Amino acid sequence: MLRAKTGRVESVPLEEYVAAVLPAEIGRRAPMAALEAQAVAARSYAVARSGRHAEDGADLCDATHCQVFAGLASATAETRAACAATRGLVLVQKGRVIAAPFHAVCGGRTARPRDVWDDEENPDLASVEDDACRDAPGFAWTHAIRRNEIPALGATLGFPGARFLEVFSRDGTGRVSAIRLAARGGGTRTVRGFDFRKSASELWGWASVRSTAFEIAESRKEYLLTGYGTGHGAGLCQAGAIARARRGESAAAILSLYYRGAEVTRPDLPG
Ligand SMILES: [Zn+2]
Ligand SMILES: [Zn+2]
Repeated sequence: MLRAKTGRVESVPLEEYVAAVLPAEIGRRAPMAALEAQAVAARSYAVARSGRHAEDGADLCDATHCQVFAGLASATAETRAACAATRGLVLVQKGRVIAAPFHAVCGGRTARPRDVWDDEENPDLASVEDDACRDAPGFAWTHAIRRNEIPALGATLGFPGARFLEVFSRDGTGRVSAIRLAARGGGTRTVRGFDFRKSASELWGWASVRSTAFEIAESRKEYLLTGYGTGHGAGLCQAGAIARARRGESAAAILSLYYRGAEVTRPDLPG
């Protein structure tokens, strides 16, 4: 474990690590089946991405780059119980443990990992409909981008001349896959939806463009984005998992829905 702030490397047993990341990733008050599902996802992610910080002598770092780890003392009785109940279980596809993605709120339909990231290691997960997160904060949102904010946004995307924007393309599930920025007088630049959202988040905070599932309405002074969901949308929808656990669904049922295409197994893992 690489502590990102100090550069120190600590050794942390896998199960204790998973129990400690759950509070930061899904919240300590999530119901047990949701904690268990998140434990399987977080464990799978840690196993699949181990060695990511090999050049620093570590497997994972403690920041959002990997998974947020605030120290072993973050684990609670509930998160330890969720880990114990799922001990060693991971999500596997084609014989490999997958870097199981998860996010806050899907907004009605999950995204396919390959539509979100340019990464050959992406698991092949189906997009599924999900109404369980409907009542969660962040299910529906709006955000206005004033025209005079467009140049700053364009600058972070390598195109400071940008004055206008429009949806250029959508993926198979309707999320914005590309945005086209245009300058006064003609020049254009097309950027990935994911990068557009990242730049907006850096400029105006994560609660500005909460997802890439949005429409744009243009008016004289602004672009009004109306969207659904919070986060990248791939894999486990945490708000949906919490709602499903509250209505009695098991961790196994939750995992088989959000990770359709992968299976939950307990391989013989070293350590
Ligand atoms: Zn990292
Ligand atoms: Zn959802």
